[in-house]
Amino acid sequence: MRARPERPRDPGFRVTPGGSVKAEGLGDGSTACGGGHRQAALDAATRQNPQFQVLLDRIYAAVLPEVADLETVLNTTDPQQLELLFAFADEVRRRFVGDGVLLRGIVEFSNICRNTCWYCGLHRGNRALPRYRLTKTQILAAAGNVHAAGIKTVVLQSGEEDNLDADELRAVIEEIKSSLEMAVTLCVGERSRAEYRFWREAGADRYLLKIETSDPELYRRLHPGMSWENRTRCLRDLAELGYQTGSGNLVGLPGQTLRHLAGDIQFFRQGDFDMISVSPFIPHPQTPLAEAPAGDLLLTLKMTALARIVSRNAHVPATTAIGSLHGRDERPRALAAGANVIMPNFTPAPYRQQYEIYPNKRCVSDDARACPPCIERMVEALGRRVDYSRGDRMKME
Ligand code: SF4
Repeated sequence: MRARPERPRDPGFRVTPGGSVKAEGLGDGSTACGGGHRQAALDAATRQNPQFQVLLDRIYAAVLPEVADLETVLNTTDPQQLELLFAFADEVRRRFVGDGVLLRGIVEFSNICRNTCWYCGLHRGNRALPRYRLTKTQILAAAGNVHAAGIKTVVLQSGEEDNLDADELRAVIEEIKSSLEMAVTLCVGERSRAEYRFWREAGADRYLLKIETSDPELYRRLHPGMSWENRTRCLRDLAELGYQTGSGNLVGLPGQTLRHLAGDIQFFRQGDFDMISVSPFIPHPQTPLAEAPAGDLLLTLKMTALARIVSRNAHVPATTAIGSLHGRDERPRALAAGANVIMPNFTPAPYRQQYEIYPNKRCVSDDARACPPCIERMVEALGRRVDYSRGDRMKME
């Protein structure tokens, strides 16, 4: 994790005389507010909730937002305050990362895992799950499909394998970098600094390692045999080695409180991550948390909005889990709450169904080639566009 940069005290946002959310120097703010009707609703919301607007400004401007301020936002169910929150996050998104929605093609190359995370269907105790590991040829073919779809980032994801072959993964990275010229994101769990360096030297650009919860005690309860200290060590190593580093959390974990979630937002701010992924917890029947309720969609959207507000220019996905919760695709709501990335799945059949972190994942039976046109329709309906560029780090070096 990088050292925290200083923040200007001036948030750069103002409540206009008419009462609307407006970014200075960016025109009349109507783009952010999506037309006259919505603008009028925002004007009314701002007039009737001046203190909430001040609270959002304070969170945005803070070097480290106060837990109490974050809890207030996470606690609200007031429709006007929610409208202000999402409009604010949407404006920060527009100002710092633009209207484009970046695509990252995921290839889940192994569902073998040594760990027993209580919320995850891939945990090693799940004997009902058929295990697989793609060959180098299969991984490269899937990466080729990502490239053929015009997407310039491939995410190579797996469970945390004891027997992961570091040399073979290095060979895959080198082949992708030399023949496809794509950005490579790794998501293969906690590894040694030497392995991280080995793959970085081969050309890996980015690494995603979610903290899941920033609270050490809750982390310990949900991750038998793992340690929060080692996880944060990994995140520090990755940043120091020059990876564009991503983290994220789960919302609605049993035992998790709003205070924990506020701590997660502080963790994101302190880590100054390049990517932040917020997902609802979805219980898997073959886990110890099978009977626990799923995470709340609205709370997940509020966390997405806060992640955007405190990070400003991190890449924030509208996660597949948000699109899978309750069987409805709610990713457009995440895109309207600060998100700017979608991650279509290019894992080949039948393995895609077997990468079952949680049940009823969306699009597991679709042809991957159908994903980009479908996402384009979703994004254009929001008045935005799919951005087929690499979408690299936007943080200052
Ligand atoms: S969350 Fe990751 S490390 Fe934990 S059981 Fe699932 S795949 Fe393994």
